[in-house]
Amino acid sequence: MIIVHKYGGSSVATTEKILDIAKYLGKVKSENNDVVVVVSAMGKTTDNLIKLAYEITEDPDKREMDRLMSTGEQQTIALLSIALQSLGYDAISLTGRQAGIMTEGHHTKNRIKSIDGEKIKGYLKEGKIVIVAGFQGVDKLGDVATLGRGGSDTSAVALAAVLNAKCEIYTDVDGIYSIDPRVYPDAKKISHISYDEMMELAFLGAGVMESRAVELGKKYGVEIYVGKSLGEKNGTIITSKEKMMEEKVITGISVNENILMVNIENIPTYAKNVYAIFEQAVNLGINIDMISQNDVLSEHGSFAFACPKTEKTSLEKLSEILKEEFKDISVIINPYVVKVSLVGIGLISNTVVAARIFKVFAENNISFHQVAASEISIAIIVDEVMGKEAARLLAKEFNI
Ligand code: ADP
Ligand code: ASP
Ligand code: MG
Repeated sequence: MIIVHKYGGSSVATTEKILDIAKYLGKVKSENNDVVVVVSAMGKTTDNLIKLAYEITEDPDKREMDRLMSTGEQQTIALLSIALQSLGYDAISLTGRQAGIMTEGHHTKNRIKSIDGEKIKGYLKEGKIVIVAGFQGVDKLGDVATLGRGGSDTSAVALAAVLNAKCEIYTDVDGIYSIDPRVYPDAKKISHISYDEMMELAFLGAGVMESRAVELGKKYGVEIYVGKSLGEKNGTIITSKEKMMEEKVITGISVNENILMVNIENIPTYAKNVYAIFEQAVNLGINIDMISQNDVLSEHGSFAFACPKTEKTSLEKLSEILKEEFKDISVIINPYVVKVSLVGIGLISNTVVAARIFKVFAENNISFHQVAASEISIAIIVDEVMGKEAARLLAKEFNI
């Protein structure tokens, strides 16, 4: 059996932790498993690398950012390989390119296009523990390309899919909770969660798993284990809906702080204008979410959307371009908001939930800017200062 393990930044933050992981991996290997390990950059390395670039300029080139950020994981793979070898195990470290991970898309948020697993399989046959740098691949120009923050999860699940392997994600929490246990200490650990719910929770801000990783797990039928301790299996399994025992109305709540709201006002309301705005946004690689439009029947209208705070520079560019095209337009960017989202398969058939949410808001004087619902989630944008409190009150209301 091939097993892919993934260790996140805090799990590999020190050489001591790296040595502990090496010891554990050696044990897993000696139990007759073929072991592939995906690692992240040590501790806050990626944040620190990004900070260095921003000390130089507010708008660093994205190709060079990929080059810079990818170095973090390369330190860890080498150190883990050294640790394994020092314990007497045969190990080899591979960059994303060496592991055959091809990407496509925009720099700093690439997607995995394909993986040629043959090289890894060859090393496994030789009895080696194979260590792969997470978060990176190579694009068609041969440039190193990163997968977006938290992208090592995606590397791990994609490798597990290609290698037909088990997938275990080790992190600094002992499983997936109904709500971030750091924000809400009474959160409950979930033993099993469906791909769809986890994807939605992750997409809406639960940083514990990268949403594309879960999407890949669903697509290729890779069950994902998420846990902390090296050894005991008391974490969470992300699996298909069919394997779930009970369905709650609400399974989890996520709070996304990396969000801002944009109001574009006074635009002549023609479909072609709205299209022009979105076309520019796509060209600038801006991720737009929660779109709403007002005054569709009058001559001038407004619309609002949300997008990640990290895309502020691209948004400012968009604003400049739009102001040239539409003279009277106004673009208001509000970064002082967060998105609180409730997720649960049970939402599909339950209409009372919205009423319960708005009752909580009304009773606690929480105002909100925007609401969006999908089949299995309701997302609400509230003022930053009220975000955590809103999440806590909702968790209490739904007893999760
Ligand atoms: P890693 O570096 O291992 O990838 P992350 O920081 O990306 O770790 O993810 C783990 C963190 O996710 C935890 O420290 C926790 O604060 C946060 N988190 C957010 N939402 C949840 C949740 N619903 N359940 C568990 N952890 C969560
Ligand atoms: N090191 C990268 C990050 O901090 C990738 C990851 O940790 O998954 O975003
Ligand atoms: Mg992570």
